[in-house]
Amino acid sequence: MPKGPRPLIAGNWKMNGLAKPAMREVTALAKHLDKAAGKQAFDLLICPPATLIAPLRAGIAKLGLTRRIRLGGQDCHASASGAHTGDIAAPMLKDAGCAYAIVGHSERRTDHGESDAAVHAKAEAAHAAGLIAIICIGETRAERDAGQTLRILTRQLKGSVPAAATARNTVIAYEPVWAIGTGLTPTAADVAKAHAHIRKRLAARFKDAAGFRILYGGSVKGSNAAELMALANVDGALVGGASLKATDFWPIALAVG
Ligand code: PEP
Repeated sequence: MPKGPRPLIAGNWKMNGLAKPAMREVTALAKHLDKAAGKQAFDLLICPPATLIAPLRAGIAKLGLTRRIRLGGQDCHASASGAHTGDIAAPMLKDAGCAYAIVGHSERRTDHGESDAAVHAKAEAAHAAGLIAIICIGETRAERDAGQTLRILTRQLKGSVPAAATARNTVIAYEPVWAIGTGLTPTAADVAKAHAHIRKRLAARFKDAAGFRILYGGSVKGSNAAELMALANVDGALVGGASLKATDFWPIALAVG
């Protein structure tokens, strides 16, 4: 990976995981980290289901890895509290031990009809709570086939990324919707083009655009991580399926470390 922002390898566990097996995976990750002692040249993040944040926080603390394995929420509400049954507010994530919150994941945009404006409000809520917002953007298959990819990314960046975003409080995740969970990935050239475009759009709005981490997400695995992570403007990965098992996740981390 060319020199740039410190890479971030983030695992999105989605609606998967129960406490005991989850802790076994974290312990396995810890063993890998131990072996690589002193050489962790990337930030490592797990975004488990909300029910696992507290037990994983305790388990990670017990392993003495609080600074080496960070936790994040998979979503947050735009309000800090209130009558929103089933939702989780950003200050609650922070209180539970999270440093990050994913917002605007395509599964939220699709399953819950979240618009760019809704994602923007969630990112602001994450920032207000002191969390780093990982703002997801990406085109659908139909949009790609229609040659609309860069236009969609421009629109989503404009609509979803708050004016107060900085390289310190915001990460952008480029996740082509059609590549998520499908085993399909864009070509390296297409990923490079999308990431260069995202950097350029950020540069038009933010003085510290060069410092923003831009993650690639969509069927990242051990076998393709090195090629993807070596691309210019790719500052890490947001990983779904391959983040559930340490044996699959660690090789991806090694691709940047
Ligand atoms: C994701 O859901 O953010 C994701 C990238 O999933 P997967 O790695 O399984 O494609």
